[in-house]
Amino acid sequence: MQAIVLSDHVEVRDDRPSPTPADGEVLVRVLRAGVCETDLQLIKGYMGFRGVLGHEFVGVAQSGPLSGRRVVGEINCACWNCETCRKGLNTHCPNRTVLGILNHDGAFADLIAVPQRNLHVVPDSLSDDVAVFTEPVAAAFQIPAQITVRPDDRIVVLGDGRLGNLCAQVLARLSRRVLVVGKHQEKLALLQSMGIDIARLSDPIDERAADIVVDCTGSESGLPTALKLVRPRGTIVLKTTVAGVQTIAWAPFVIDEVTLVGSRCGPFDQALHALERGFVNVQPLISDRFPLARGLEALERAQTKPVLKVLIDVN
Ligand SMILES: [Zn+2]
Ligand SMILES: [Zn+2]
Repeated sequence: MQAIVLSDHVEVRDDRPSPTPADGEVLVRVLRAGVCETDLQLIKGYMGFRGVLGHEFVGVAQSGPLSGRRVVGEINCACWNCETCRKGLNTHCPNRTVLGILNHDGAFADLIAVPQRNLHVVPDSLSDDVAVFTEPVAAAFQIPAQITVRPDDRIVVLGDGRLGNLCAQVLARLSRRVLVVGKHQEKLALLQSMGIDIARLSDPIDERAADIVVDCTGSESGLPTALKLVRPRGTIVLKTTVAGVQTIAWAPFVIDEVTLVGSRCGPFDQALHALERGFVNVQPLISDRFPLARGLEALERAQTKPVLKVLIDVN
């Protein structure tokens, strides 16, 4: 089959063997996949991943109870046996593999093997272009799954990129006071057209005033900025990882009793529901698309500014 394979370099191959589904896994014929910041980090050496890239996808199940149906798949493949899994923390299973990220081939390929229990049926009303956003939208829904968001909470989202946009859209349905702080005129203009308040990083923004600050910058400057904006006893949510070691004075967290929440993968059912109802508008985020054979161009395009989402058309 054809696949985008990462070894010591990244290449499109036509001779990749089809994946062999493990116990409890089914093959999914990939229709469309999305390029994510994590893919770009993996190419730079993050996690030391080797294999087929890609974890945002929509496809058609080839066997099992959902055979022939359009599906999306949660990316954490847990053992369901260990103490962590038994506590319901399966996305943190120490034995897990992660599609296209950790010891499991991903979705930039004609076929991907996915645990049956990770699959969710895509409602007929959702196009492939919309369904492919389920994974990142679910990640945005992880914020209200972890913390209480009240209608009058002042929320600042740092970062106007792919994830910042989706987090802002999800949070704007829960609070009427969401402000996105970014650097890119076009990306901020898109958010504004969605009815979300925007500011540039250089604009004056009330310090020590936000109930919740969400860091989607993927940058070392995100956390210090968040700390400046959050109010005493407020909450900072970290949505993006920063490679390497980060130095910060921790005393303000104690003095101001700030809560720091790390946040990663989220609920697919809520994401599909929101996409179906049109609560989250993803189509304007699609900047470009390439067939799988031109996958390297897709990866390159995803690194240029001001791109939001680049899709790969597979089958
Ligand atoms: Zn991702
Ligand atoms: Zn486990």
